[in-house]
Amino acid sequence: MVRRLHAASFCRRHVAPLTQTVVGFAPAGRAVSALMSIFRELTEGLPRQGPGSPEATLRALGLVRGLPEHPKILDVGCGSGAQTIELARATKGQIVAVDIRQRFLDELTEHAREAGVLPQITTVNISMFDMDFPADSFDLIWSEGAIYFAGFAAGLSAWRRFLKPGGWLAVSELSWLVPNPPAEAAQFWARNYPAMKSIERNCQIINETGYVDADGFVIPVQDWWDNYYGPGQTRVAELRKKYASDPDILTILEDAQREYDLFRVHCDAYGYVFFVMRKPAQ
Ligand code: SAH
Repeated sequence: MVRRLHAASFCRRHVAPLTQTVVGFAPAGRAVSALMSIFRELTEGLPRQGPGSPEATLRALGLVRGLPEHPKILDVGCGSGAQTIELARATKGQIVAVDIRQRFLDELTEHAREAGVLPQITTVNISMFDMDFPADSFDLIWSEGAIYFAGFAAGLSAWRRFLKPGGWLAVSELSWLVPNPPAEAAQFWARNYPAMKSIERNCQIINETGYVDADGFVIPVQDWWDNYYGPGQTRVAELRKKYASDPDILTILEDAQREYDLFRVHCDAYGYVFFVMRKPAQ
């Protein structure tokens, strides 16, 4: 399933901004360090930390026009770098890859070395909230499955200054694909990502935060399963056996499984959307 956004009607109307809320799901009464350790076990060593694929990355890159021969690229929330490596292969660019998990940055370095693109990549362990790159310094900012940490609107606003005039921004963001999502999906995401918006609302935000030439597409359902939910489900099944006598951890694992099961049923109602846009040249 690939839905094309309608570029012509993209980003016109204006409505009041929605409230941004933080995702939080740790059960009370348990040491945070113990819970962090299960999150690490759930995520480390997997091919990706969010839905996507080389094809989706390249398709989004294809919407970016007029990059210089050696573009300067910033990849925010790069994780273990599946898309970073793809960008390095597809451009002759220099990429600054930012994440707060050193383990992911180390995995990225290893994968980039194997792929022969390490000289193009510099990893930086810094929060997206603390980035202090010079203004107007990147031709392209990339962020797959990570802008939600900042908030879609806040991230677009904050990162704009790092782009050269006429520079491009490509982000993927979980979005509602239908006006009235099924109650089960609406309730799940009201708990887990209450700030999720429709494609139309995200388009308005793109306008309001001063970007132009917006385009994009919905990431195919297959990309969720092949590279993210599929490997995640296998990991959850292993950890359910390992922690069979730990009810707190089993609750977390059941929540993860619930997310996979929900998407299996309701993948028409929500999805990851790649939004590609440009900072005006002046
Ligand atoms: N882009 C990768 C990873 C997406 S998961 C992919 O698509 O596979 C989101 C990533 O954002 C994780 O690697 C997480 O460690 C990182 N992250 C979370 N909070 C962050 C912050 N404040 N600053 C930078 N990166 C952050």
